[in-house]
Amino acid sequence: MAESVVAQKVEQLQVNGAKEEDEDLVTPWEVTTTKATGIDYDKLIVKFGCRKLDDDIIARFERITGHKAIPMLRRGMFFAHRDFSAILDRKEQGKPFYLYTGRGASSGSLHLGHLVPFIFTKWLQEVFDVPLIIQMTDDEKFLWKDMKVDDAKKMARENMKDIISVGFDASKTFIFNDFDYMCPPFYENIVKIWKVVNANQARSIFGFTPEDCMGKAAFPAVEAAPCFASSFPHIFGAKGKKNDIPCLIPCAIDQDPYFRMCRDVAPRLKASKPSLIFSTFLPALQGAQTKMSASEPNTCIFLDDTAKQIKNKINKYAFSGGQQTLEEHRAKGGNCDVDISYQFLRFFLDDDEKLEEIRVKYTKGELLSGELKALAIEEVQKIVGVMAERRKTVTDATVDEFTKIRPLAFEY
Ligand code: ATP
Ligand code: MG
Repeated sequence: MAESVVAQKVEQLQVNGAKEEDEDLVTPWEVTTTKATGIDYDKLIVKFGCRKLDDDIIARFERITGHKAIPMLRRGMFFAHRDFSAILDRKEQGKPFYLYTGRGASSGSLHLGHLVPFIFTKWLQEVFDVPLIIQMTDDEKFLWKDMKVDDAKKMARENMKDIISVGFDASKTFIFNDFDYMCPPFYENIVKIWKVVNANQARSIFGFTPEDCMGKAAFPAVEAAPCFASSFPHIFGAKGKKNDIPCLIPCAIDQDPYFRMCRDVAPRLKASKPSLIFSTFLPALQGAQTKMSASEPNTCIFLDDTAKQIKNKINKYAFSGGQQTLEEHRAKGGNCDVDISYQFLRFFLDDDEKLEEIRVKYTKGELLSGELKALAIEEVQKIVGVMAERRKTVTDATVDEFTKIRPLAFEY
């Protein structure tokens, strides 16, 4: 998003009378704040009614799984949850559960922000060794965007290739797009959800207006239905029919409304409630007032950007927390809290000591903005480069392997 668009959104919020302390807007379609430091996540936890992912639960996770938390978890990029402890209980007791996440393809390629839930999910899958289900909501994009059905499907398929490039295991992962998967058990769950949520509830959760097309109000059930194991008879067989195999959903917190609704209806459908683990947003290049969003291509570094494009984008657009002049920067130091290059490193740099050294030096003014940008460029180029290499080996046949209706390598 161009800076002018950020300014416009901030202005909109102010026109709407948002007060200084409650001006953050987080919905599945929009993420905006007036603060350069980004969304106030502690307040969001209170507003949404989820729980903070605190040190105790992370320590319990490490104890039960025998795995050290990855940087995104121990640095608080994954910061909140709903019933994560229930999943840890099941892991401890050797009871089944699965992972479920997704993507609504609105660009030909994923952006760096999408990598956050997918990298984390891949790691969780290795740690938990459970089935993973990935939903591509091409129907959602058809309803919301000016897009033809065929184009939405094609885009979903292209995005699947990027997702597969994260390194998922085909024997344990099922990827589907809504338009092609809509099978009877999945549809039955959707209709059951429709029956127990009335239009007023849908409107208050999602903010739909009477002018919105009917499909928009109907869609949330499609994103909720994969939370029920009976939607996937080829994976969970007869055992899944009872809907007592729960899922854990890793996603950014903007997706919470769908699953708040789902957790509300689950008991009425005699189904297990889904658990969730939420990430913060990778910020837009222009600043943490908005998230990196495929709908605003200027805010993004895409996985099909070349090394040169990455360098140019970060150098040109990445908002800097540095001072105006060299002298001033040396004297006052930079502000990591608003600096987008630093924020990218927080998400993607593995080495804790190096990250801390960067933070200290930048804050003291020893490290300059251009130098910090160079470090972020190097790291982002590395991640995107690895993905691009893997992407070359992902063919249509690979996609067919992941989308095939088949049992996964687990027995129920
Ligand atoms: P669009 O702008 O078309 O809605 P999007 O960029 O918001 O696209 P989605 O397909 O809506 O992406 O989201 C897919 C997944 O990626 C969700 O789990 C979402 O919460 C997460 N996600 C999207 N953007 C970011 C971001 N900037 N940082 C972290 N996670 C993100
Ligand atoms: Mg979105």
